[in-house]
Amino acid sequence: MSTIQQIDFSNKKAIIRADLNVPIKDGKISDDSRIVASLPTIQHVLENGGAVILMSHLGRPTKDLNEDGSIKKEKYSLAPVAKELGQLLNTNVLLANDFGGADSQSKAADLKSGEILLLENTRFETGEGKGDEQLAKRLAKLADVYINDAFGTAHRAHASTYKVATLFPADKKAFGFLMNKELEEARKITEQPKKPYTVILGGAKVSDKLLLIEKLVPKADHLLIGGGMAYTFIKAKGGQIGKSLCEEDKIELVRGIMKKAEENNCSIHLPVDTIAADEFKEDANKKLVSTSEIPENLMGLDIGPKTILQYSKIIAESATIFWNGPMGVFEMPPYATGTVKIAEAISDSTAKGAYSLIGGGDSVAAVNKFGLGDKMSYLSTGGGAMLTLLEGTVLPAVEAMKH
Ligand code: AMP
Repeated sequence: MSTIQQIDFSNKKAIIRADLNVPIKDGKISDDSRIVASLPTIQHVLENGGAVILMSHLGRPTKDLNEDGSIKKEKYSLAPVAKELGQLLNTNVLLANDFGGADSQSKAADLKSGEILLLENTRFETGEGKGDEQLAKRLAKLADVYINDAFGTAHRAHASTYKVATLFPADKKAFGFLMNKELEEARKITEQPKKPYTVILGGAKVSDKLLLIEKLVPKADHLLIGGGMAYTFIKAKGGQIGKSLCEEDKIELVRGIMKKAEENNCSIHLPVDTIAADEFKEDANKKLVSTSEIPENLMGLDIGPKTILQYSKIIAESATIFWNGPMGVFEMPPYATGTVKIAEAISDSTAKGAYSLIGGGDSVAAVNKFGLGDKMSYLSTGGGAMLTLLEGTVLPAVEAMKH
């Protein structure tokens, strides 16, 4: 693989896998930060005499089909993205009406240096998710150079992220600037993080993060657990969790992980108090209770003040901090305090010199919502990809560049 700076783009067509998966409502983009984050790579190719062919997914069209099983092409079209990109770059961005089909081929063939062509949503083709070789070959034929700048999908072995990369020789493929930055930041926590190293994990499901927790136990000094996943841990320790989220079939595994943590001098911290409610609603009846004594009729929806204090103290004493997953149901204001206070604690610790990486999805949305985005060392654009890296697994998109 080359670096993007080593590649000569003059009179070449570069096909770039970007992550332009922005939130769109009624045809309007509500947050264009992913498009903005992709600009440096696009501009680099254009400024060095090349033409740009862009690929990106948008939403999950295959999970929201029409009644006859067809894709909602208008709803999931990248047309608003082409328009926004054109405005940001002050140029016209062409849009192909398919992904690697006849329209992509004819528009790519006519593309001149300095021009940009965006292909339609990668997920309009079923071969994308399967890493289909024929689709990848059609994509590879469109361009001379392949650039991957989509960290958010780097953990997926799709046609546009993996297979197509394997079809380009080493001197004709490179990572984009965003991808390089993400991998560089990830190394600060995967390769000898400064100690004490604290990982804060929350969110709904423990099953999504069990492998990660197991892999982190020998590396992290502190694991602070919050959100819905905490209650499976509490139950595994014999606590009463009422109606709180619990994954019964994971209790044995959780016990095994807690034992491994003890043997490795990794402290797994669980919430000591909880804001519990009688319904999953903003205006439910609420009560502050001990996390291991939640009454039968209540469910835990946020961490309580004692837990916030304990967790904040550990965060203040940490040199490296990674956070993924909210501490409670932060979308509803009565259960957002835990997530806000933990975000503040991380921001305070960062101001005092700690390195903090916020890993994608809900945690980044939460940090931005509370206006603390620029107080963190780095906000990753990829939750799943960052968690995969932390597990110690090589990302397929990174692997593909080696072939
Ligand atoms: P995840 O996708 O696993 O990171 O989970 C994020 C979701 O977890 C958010 O939508 C939160 O509302 C939800 N969540 C956090 N804490 C709880 C809780 N105690 N009970 C139910 N859901 C929760």
